[in-house]
Amino acid sequence: MTHTHAFWLAGRQATGDDTLDVTSPWDGRLVGTASVPTEAQVEEAVAAAHAVRAEFAATPAHVRAAALEHVQRRLAERAEEIAGLISAENGKPLKWARGEVGRAVSVFRFATEEARRFNGGEAQRLDTDAGGAGRLALTRRFPRGAVLGIAPFNFPLNLCAHKVAPALAVGAPIILKPAPATPLSGLLLGELLAETDLPAGSWSVLPVPNDRMPALVRDERLPVISFTGSGPVGWSILDSAPRKHTTLELGGNGAAIVLADWSSDADLDWAATRIATFSNYQGGQSCISVQRVIADASVYDRLVPRIVAAVKEQVTGDPSNPATDVGPLVSEDAAKRVESWVGEAVDAGATLLTGGERDGATYAPTVLTDVPSDVQVSCEEVFGPVLTVTRAEDEAAAFAAANDSQYGLQAGVFTHDVRTAFRAHRELEVGGVIIGDVPSYRADQMPYGGTKQSGVGREGVRFAMDDYTYERVMVLTGL
Ligand code: NAD
Repeated sequence: MTHTHAFWLAGRQATGDDTLDVTSPWDGRLVGTASVPTEAQVEEAVAAAHAVRAEFAATPAHVRAAALEHVQRRLAERAEEIAGLISAENGKPLKWARGEVGRAVSVFRFATEEARRFNGGEAQRLDTDAGGAGRLALTRRFPRGAVLGIAPFNFPLNLCAHKVAPALAVGAPIILKPAPATPLSGLLLGELLAETDLPAGSWSVLPVPNDRMPALVRDERLPVISFTGSGPVGWSILDSAPRKHTTLELGGNGAAIVLADWSSDADLDWAATRIATFSNYQGGQSCISVQRVIADASVYDRLVPRIVAAVKEQVTGDPSNPATDVGPLVSEDAAKRVESWVGEAVDAGATLLTGGERDGATYAPTVLTDVPSDVQVSCEEVFGPVLTVTRAEDEAAAFAAANDSQYGLQAGVFTHDVRTAFRAHRELEVGGVIIGDVPSYRADQMPYGGTKQSGVGREGVRFAMDDYTYERVMVLTGL
């Protein structure tokens, strides 16, 4: 038995005149039905967010922090139930869904802490020039206005948390738009927000259909857009609302670079295990999953069999089984697309070392070598459990190969040498360089985002708080 999940309009439950069915990518069963807001209801939510912006910005920090702390506690208390919901609507294996809830708890914890210390302000003496004698500048940050937060399907809870928690921490109203395939986790977050004393109108969770999003994107009462999703949609948002303050967290084809000094058996075992795990976790449907391994020629022959063995150990199957590593992709169409891209690579001369099979929406963890650089698995974002391994003659060639990408989200560099680490940090054109691990590492408080086609702006709780606000200076005269 499933029921219709109401949405959240200006902090209260409401239903519209249409619904959206959410089905499990694993077995196609109906997981739930989400109510879809009418145009008039969306208008009401936007008007409420706009109207409450000054009142919300003036809400005491302790009130906002208490609300954030409440959500943090409730997420933790209901963790197992929420992980089950994420797994059901997204097809994500339970072990990863549990991890996602843990991360969302952390996001609300960081936001609680940051809400308490944000905006202390900075005083600057202006009498360093004659014209500034007797003057003092006081700088504080204020919200830019209401935020439109748009989330993708692959982290249906945590990426909603990354939109909502920083907004509430700075006192910016937010309209959250979860992904159509996975709206239920975002709506559940609304349930927890509704238990707080946040002002009516300061938050809404609305599963607005995609064809009605362009109007919302252009609405001037929502001056900030925080978008996580695919490149074409993200860049179209920037094109259609160029004067808004927009953050785009888009795709990637993350590289893990294994250098010559990472060469002991233990080193290579660790690298292979991490690579196998993080090219396949969530079926490879993470923007920072490992897609390209670039191995120094001196370690390549010892690394490749280890990677293949570790990939073969990945347990594929029912996402509700706690032992499962790799579940289905979000849809059968997504798995068919991955299948065709692997087929294109093999036709072009790539060697298939393991995987390459599809069963419905599930695609087997796959490793390819000898892959031409111009096929899609090399240069596009696969968003599936597919890994390419290439050989580089030396460090410079490895860094050049990693940079030879339209994307620039994160890179992992396996090295013990601190000078190499600093060179990697300087030379790799990405938003984050992870030394001694895969590119898939993300802590929710650190700045996170991309260069090139991977997007603009940074998330990570405090960095999003900076983005949602601007500095306003007050000059005191006659002191
Ligand atoms: P998507 O672009 O299809 O959808 C993302 C969101 O945009 C959804 O809520 C969708 O309903 C909405 N949307 C669709 N059309 C819109 C429009 N015209 N205007 C405004 N919003 C619109 O992405 P997806 O398939 O849900 O997610 C997968 C993508 O997200 C991948 O490319 C992945 O790399 C990327 N991603 C990036 C990050 C990051 O932090 N960089 C994190 C996770 C996922």
